[in-house]
This record gives sequence, structure tokens and C-alpha cells, in this order.
Amino acid sequence: MNYQRSKMNPNQGTNKTVLDRYLRLDIPDQKCQAMYVWVDGSGENLRSKTRTLNFVPKCPSELPIWNFDGSSTGQAEGSNSDVYLYPVAIYRDPFRLGNNKLVLCETYKYNKKPTDTNQRWKCLEVMKKAADQHPWFGMEQEYTLLDTDKHPLGWPKNGYPGPQGPYYCGVGANKVYGRDVVEAHYRACLYTGINISGENAEVMPAQWEFQVGPCEGITMGDDLWMARYLLHRVAEDFNVVVTLDPKPIPGDWNGAGMHTNFSTAGMRSPNGILEIESAIEKLSKVHDKHIQAYDPHGGKDNERRLTGRHETSSIHDFSAGVANRGASIRIPRGVAEEKTGYLEDRRPSSNADPYVVSDRLVRTICLNEQ
Ligand code: ADP
Ligand code: MN
Ligand code: MN
Ligand code: MN
Ligand code: MN
Repeated sequence: MNYQRSKMNPNQGTNKTVLDRYLRLDIPDQKCQAMYVWVDGSGENLRSKTRTLNFVPKCPSELPIWNFDGSSTGQAEGSNSDVYLYPVAIYRDPFRLGNNKLVLCETYKYNKKPTDTNQRWKCLEVMKKAADQHPWFGMEQEYTLLDTDKHPLGWPKNGYPGPQGPYYCGVGANKVYGRDVVEAHYRACLYTGINISGENAEVMPAQWEFQVGPCEGITMGDDLWMARYLLHRVAEDFNVVVTLDPKPIPGDWNGAGMHTNFSTAGMRSPNGILEIESAIEKLSKVHDKHIQAYDPHGGKDNERRLTGRHETSSIHDFSAGVANRGASIRIPRGVAEEKTGYLEDRRPSSNADPYVVSDRLVRTICLNEQ
């Protein structure tokens, strides 16, 4: 390895063409590499590890329960460190291809109780209770691409790019940074079966968004977590880092959110606007509870983002309006005109746990919890 190359990130320095030779090797038909993926003790970051199976699994219940060293992920003490992985959803593996799988898992402690950052089991209970109302979600995941030095991708190393304006949905080498990552991620999501519905470049340069949905019930959280895993993994291939920080650059730069579009069967029916209005009324009474649930630090992360500027509402006030991007809840123009459809909750932070957000919305709107 020459000097120039040894200074580079080791992932970048390896030769992807050489790797491809090995990825194309035939492996025996009944062998399957199953990459188990889980949310770690931060409630934000993902971890993964692989095992070989001697069969090709079709549903999560066929997969063995596994474990990992929870003391290395903020999920257990060193003296009692085994944490269990319970498979809950299977996806095709867009990296290893063939029969190989990505396996989304819940985490359980030695005593078979869920770990503190396992938010899925509660969400699943809530979704079962509200199943007859067919809750649908569409989440808009905003994120920022960084260089390996944590500097936003494509930004001048000393200073800032020109002010916001030309970048949103932009085109051209001076308007958008990192499109290769976005394209590769979109295709990878489609390959796995994740219900990805679109992408766009965002207002701040190097900031992007993808949308997942509409998804019913628990599938929303499952698909979004796996889509986040794919995003980090795809970016790794390009030697780029992804951050879900809700305000990566302080000052006159847009933050990142996870707008959550929501509807029930009632809202999607003729004159469903009445149900949408009643849902907004319920939401207005528990604003603080929702803010607490809308980032992994009880509202602290969103304090930096929900300032009332940069297309956000103030974290302290609840508001709703048709086509209003400065409100907590926006009723899309088309929904107001047709009197049926969905509402958009603009408050969730980009690093929010989709299980917690979907759980909270359903408890307030469908189960009438205060
Ligand atoms: P915005 O105009 O806020 O940028 P997007 O187009 O980014 O909106 O995202 C809209 C999201 O709303 C998509 O993920 C879509 O799947 C979702 N969506 C559409 N209809 C419904 C519905 N009836 N219920 C829930 N989500 C929906
Ligand atoms: Mn070991
Ligand atoms: Mn959007
Ligand atoms: Mn957006
Ligand atoms: Mn939106």
C-alpha cells in the first residue's frame, strides 16, 4: 500500500472490483447468510452481525433466536452481557444477493424482558389494538451526508456554501452533493421489498430525504429502520457518512425531520376530513407528550430544530393549518379540497424512533389515550 493510499479510509482503499469476484462465487443452494440487524443502546444507531443457516428462511419464526455482547452496545453490564436477538422481519439482502437475508430483530435481556431501547414490542401491542381502524403511515426521512471528517459532503472545507435557495430538488454539480448514495439506496430499498415511495434533495446542500409508505401498522417502523440500515451501509460503500442529527449545522440552515403522514380508514373515506379535524383536536391536548416521544432524548434534540423558523413550528406551541409548513400539523392542500385523506405531523425529529412515533399517534388518535 503506498503512502497516499494508506492515508485514505481503509474501506475506500480496498478494491470493489476485486471484492465483486468473491461476491459472484456460487455458494451451495441450501446455505444462507443471515445478517441480523438491531437497534443498539443509543436508540438511534444500528448494529449487525451474520450467521450461516443451512436452509433458506421464509418467515421470521423459522429463524433461530441469537445473542450478542450487550456490554459493547450499551445494552447490558459486562458481568451479564448476553442480549437476545428475536427475529421479527426478513428482507432480501441487496449486498450479498442470492438467497441471503437481512433479518430485523428485537432485543431482549437475560431475563427475557425487552431492553430499554426495544420500542417495538409496545408498538406492536398498540397496533394490534387499533388494527380494525387500519392506521397507515408515510414517513419522510430527512438526513445529511458527511465526509469522513464529519464536514457536510461537498461543502468548502473552510467556510460555507452559498445561502439556501437553489438546492431543494436541485440538479447540477454545484447544487446537489452525494446523489450516487441516494440512487444506490433507493434501488437497494426496492430490491429488499421496503415500501420506499420517493426521494428528493433538501433545502440545505448535502441534505436529502426519502419517503417510506404508506405502510400499515408495525410495518412502518420495521421498514423505516431497515431503510436506515441500508442507508448507512450504502453510504459506507461510497466512503460517506450519514447523520440523522436534527440540526447538523447551527444557524441559517434547515434542520432535518421525520414528517409523519397518518390516516385511518375513516379519514380515507368520503368526508374523512371530519375525522382528521377530530384527530387534530386530540393531538392539540397532548402536545408535550408527543414532543417527548418525537426524539430519542425526550425533546432535547428537537429543541435545536423546532425554532419556528426554517419551515418548522415552535416546540412550545401546537398549531395546525392547511398547506402550512410552519405548523405542527399540516393538512395537505389536496386533502382539504377533496375532504378526505391524511394529516402530516411535522414535529418528529429525523432521529426519532418510528416505533415510538407511530405508537404515540395511534394511542392518541385511535385509542383515545390522554
Ligand atoms: P411533502 O409534501 O410533505 O414533502 P412527501 O411526498 O415527501 O410529502 O411524503 C408524503 C408521504 O405521505 C408519502 O410517504 C406517502 O406514502 C404518504 N401518504 C400518502 N397518502 C397517505 C395516507 N392516506 N396515509 C398515510 N400516509 C400517506
Ligand atoms: Mn466473539
Ligand atoms: Mn417530503
Ligand atoms: Mn422534506
Ligand atoms: Mn413533509
